[in-house]
Amino acid sequence: MPFIVKNVFCSNCGAPLQYEEGENIITCKYCGATQLLDVSQPFILDHSMLPLKYSEDKIDSLLLDWMKEGFIKPKDLAKKSRVESKNLKYLPFWIISVKAETFYEGLLERINPPVRKKESIIKEYDWRVLGRKGTSFPIKEFEIPLSRRVPFNYLKIPRNCSVLNSEIDEDTAKKIAEQEIEQHHKILALDAVDRIIDFKSSFEFKNTVYLHTPVWFIVYKYKKELFNVLIDGNSGLVIKGEFPF
Ligand SMILES: [Zn+2]
Repeated sequence: MPFIVKNVFCSNCGAPLQYEEGENIITCKYCGATQLLDVSQPFILDHSMLPLKYSEDKIDSLLLDWMKEGFIKPKDLAKKSRVESKNLKYLPFWIISVKAETFYEGLLERINPPVRKKESIIKEYDWRVLGRKGTSFPIKEFEIPLSRRVPFNYLKIPRNCSVLNSEIDEDTAKKIAEQEIEQHHKILALDAVDRIIDFKSSFEFKNTVYLHTPVWFIVYKYKKELFNVLIDGNSGLVIKGEFPF
């Protein structure tokens, strides 16, 4: 349930802002303006959204198609399952456009004698960071095509669905992106060498987009057991689905 910890008013329309503890990027439910909870800090944000293309009436057929596909699901899954709940949530993401350079030195020990190698990894990313802490969301399996984004607009969001505020600010999102990219580069490096001796990364940040994207959280029941499915409300693709086997 939303609650107000202290009275903070929208810098655009003056309405009281509703938020939950831990959230710090707040979107006003009245005018859609997005702001930092700490209004003393200057804040310019490119806030967009992916439009909802798959509304509630289209979800059932997507789910049925998914239940019927593949060979490892029970044959009667589509027939015997009942949808228990369907909830649409708009999740907050930070899309960090960044050029990352890693220089590393390592030993190739799989040959004898071992060889010392110096390499660099230079890549550009639109790195995605979910704006919620402690939420397990399969972000690696989730595409966010920036070309499909439109300016954030509350009027385009169906009633009775929640728009989650971000619990992390832009700087924190960038730090998370740095850590994750370093980790990713380490895996790439360990493909080329067996042991890393030296490893340094630098980052050149280009653009940051704050974006809400619609995700359907579905629970269905099959033979008295409950299973979760996440469907991308923009592309209609199943992001992740549990099924019995
Ligand atoms: Zn407002």
